[in-house]
Amino acid sequence: MNKGEMKPGAIAPAGSMHDLFTGSWRTYVPVTDLDKCTHCMMCWVMCPDSSILVEDSRKVGTDLDHCKGCGICAAVCPVKAIEMKLESDMSPDERKG
Ligand code: SF4
Ligand code: SF4
Repeated sequence: MNKGEMKPGAIAPAGSMHDLFTGSWRTYVPVTDLDKCTHCMMCWVMCPDSSILVEDSRKVGTDLDHCKGCGICAAVCPVKAIEMKLESDMSPDERKG
């Protein structure tokens, strides 16, 4: 569903944000050190954009098409495995989330 198809005050159906790439206006990128990560899933629970990528109950990265760089994941990580980095300082190879 496109934003323009909704009436004012309507509640968007689940999954309708998938085609909106909110990551296009991000300033900071969350970079996860998967060697430190204990796969507790706190970041997955708290991410407002459902941008934590998980496979077999383990965090494997970040969906940067939708991550808007709010830093909540880094703030809630109990082992400080996520560092927020300024995207403009990163090389294309580093921008993997
Ligand atoms: S910075 Fe973290 S919490 Fe915020 S949108 Fe990106 S992955 Fe989600
Ligand atoms: S909150 Fe931290 S330790 Fe837990 S899954 Fe996310 S990155 Fe890993």
